[in-house]
Amino acid sequence: MLQRNQGYWSSLFFTIRSVYKGMALTARHMVGATKRSSAATRLDISSNQYFNHQEGITTASFPHETLPIPENGRYKLHNEMEDCIVCDKCVKVCPVNCIAIEPIRSPEEFGKTSDGTSKRIYAASFDIDMSKCCFCGLCTTVCPTECLTMTPEYAFSTNHLPDHTISFANLSEQEITLRKNEWEVYLKQKAAQEQSPAGTASPATPPKPVIKPLRPKFGA
Ligand code: SF4
Ligand code: SF4
Repeated sequence: MLQRNQGYWSSLFFTIRSVYKGMALTARHMVGATKRSSAATRLDISSNQYFNHQEGITTASFPHETLPIPENGRYKLHNEMEDCIVCDKCVKVCPVNCIAIEPIRSPEEFGKTSDGTSKRIYAASFDIDMSKCCFCGLCTTVCPTECLTMTPEYAFSTNHLPDHTISFANLSEQEITLRKNEWEVYLKQKAAQEQSPAGTASPATPPKPVIKPLRPKFGA
């Protein structure tokens, strides 16, 4: 009987001690958190010292508080369309096929990028589905004009899946139709010229001479 009473009292003591320890820890952090959040002692979350004092640390109240991010981090993609030559390299290199471009070829150069590269292809659409993107950065690496970059923006969560697809193309519907027509007319004219008998082709567009490739000289 005495042994059973001893077990009861030791269990009770252990329980009370555990509750006391837990509550003391909670109270200590509550007081610490109150002190940290007071205007006089507030430490900016972007400070390197922020995590040095663990007392009173609670979860960061995002988006009001944000942690600093590295400059070379990989986040939301952006395409500066004025500098895009619609070369399709980013599409080909993407391991998850999240970039989709509808190109429209132009019969002639219609502009230059900021680094002087000729622009000869319009983009009827240039969409990136960020919900598929694995942020590998390969597309930005292969881009010849460096128009495709990763911005510091990382907070773009949404519960509406189509919102993750970013459209960068800036042609209106009328322009798209016009450019497509231009290219079709050009193809028809070119085909007509190629089919016309020799000597009747327009002097402005003479038939291209056939240049035979030189044979490599082995053992030369
Ligand atoms: S690689 Fe660069 S230039 Fe080429 S289509 Fe993609 S974004 Fe445009
Ligand atoms: S970062 Fe990688 S996965 Fe995302 S679009 Fe570029 S190549 Fe594709």
